[in-house]
Amino acid sequence: MSDKYYRNTVLDVNLEAIEKNCRAIQEINPEKILIAVVKANAYGLGAKAVSEYLAEAGVTFFAVATLDEAIDLRMHGIKQKILVLGTILPKHINKAIQHRIAVTAPNLVWVKEAKSEVTDAYDKEVWIHIKVNTGMNRYGTSDADEVNEMIKEINSFSRFIYEGIYSHFTSSDEDNEVTDEQFNLFKDIVSQAERPEYVHISNSGGALTLKEDFTTAIRTGIALYGYYPSRWTASATSVELVPSVKLSAEISAVHQLEAGDSVSYGRKYTASKREKVATLPIGYADGLLRQHNGYKVQLEGGTDCEIIGTICMDALIIRVPEHTDAGVNVTIIDDSQKSKQSMESYSEYTGTISYESLCAFGRRIPRRYAGKDVELVYNEVIN
Ligand SMILES: *Cc1c(COP(=O)(O)O)cnc(C)c1O
Repeated sequence: MSDKYYRNTVLDVNLEAIEKNCRAIQEINPEKILIAVVKANAYGLGAKAVSEYLAEAGVTFFAVATLDEAIDLRMHGIKQKILVLGTILPKHINKAIQHRIAVTAPNLVWVKEAKSEVTDAYDKEVWIHIKVNTGMNRYGTSDADEVNEMIKEINSFSRFIYEGIYSHFTSSDEDNEVTDEQFNLFKDIVSQAERPEYVHISNSGGALTLKEDFTTAIRTGIALYGYYPSRWTASATSVELVPSVKLSAEISAVHQLEAGDSVSYGRKYTASKREKVATLPIGYADGLLRQHNGYKVQLEGGTDCEIIGTICMDALIIRVPEHTDAGVNVTIIDDSQKSKQSMESYSEYTGTISYESLCAFGRRIPRRYAGKDVELVYNEVIN
C-alpha cells in the first residue's frame, strides 16, 4: 500500500462511519447476519481497506459481484465468508472451491453443469446459495419445483453444500407494493423447500425499511457507506446513517480574467467582467463528469464557487473571489446529508444516484482512510 501521492486531490474515507453504519443497521435487524456488500471495490472506496476494517469490527460475511473480486479479497487476507452474487461459469467452480468462496446457483442446468466440472484438484466442498427470481428477471428461477430439484441435486453430491437461498428486491427504495409482493413470492417458494442456514432478500432499502422475521440475513451495500438508497428511504427509516466520503482538492493555479476572456476547451465560458478563476486538479478521468459544469464546490472558509467552462480530463476551472490563491482547499463532496455539496446534491446534479457517483471515482484519486487505529493512504497508481 503506497501512502504517497503527489497531486492534491484526495478522497477521504471515514472507516469509523462505515463501522457505525454497520452497527446501526444491525441494531434494527438484531437477529440477522449482516452480509457486507463490498462489490465494485467496495463501491469505489477500496474493498481491501473497507473489508479489513469491517472484519476487525466483527463482520463475518462479505458479498461481491464476481469470482475475481472474491479471489482478490482472499489474496488480501480476508478470511471471512464471501459470497459471489453474480453467476460464475460452471467450469470455474474449482476456483471457488480452491479459494473457499460461496457461489450463487441460478438454475438447475447450472447446478448440473457445475457438478460435472468439479475435479479432485482441491478436496474441499463449495457452499451454494440458490437464487430465486421474484421479479428482477436478472438471475435465478421462480419455479418452486426447479428449486427443489436444485436442492436434491446439491444434497446428493458430497462436494456441494446447500447453504443459502435468496432473492433480490427491485424497488425497496420506493414507496409501493412491489417489495411486499416480491417478499411474499419469496416466502411462498422458500416455504415449499428445505430451509438452509442463510435465507436472505433485503438489500439496504429492505434492511432499512422492512420489518420481517422470515429471513436470517441481510445484504447491505450503500447504507454501510452512509448513503440512503433514495430520499424516500431516508424518510422511511429510523436509522441515522453517517456519510463516509469527502472529496476535496487544492487549487493548483489561479488566473485573472478580463471581460471577454474565456476558459477551457471550446471557450464555452466567457467572463463578462474582470474576475478571478482557479484551477482544480480533478477532471472527468477522476469520475467528476463533464455534466458537473455549473455545480458549486466550496472554498475553505465557506464560499460556494461555480464550476465554469468545459471540465477537462485532469482539471476543471471555478470562479473564485478576488483574494483567492493557489493552495486553498476546496470541498467537492462533503460528509453531510443535506448541504449543497452532499453526495446526494452532487449526484442529483447529473441525474444520477450516490451508487454511481461512488463507483465513478477514478483509481487516480488516492483514498485516505481514517478509523480507529487506522490512518493510511492508498494510491493505486503507484501501488
Ligand atoms: C449490489 C447488491 C446488493 C447491495 O445493494 P445495496 O442497495 O447497495 O444495499 C445486495 N444484493 C445484490 C444481489 C446486489 O447485487
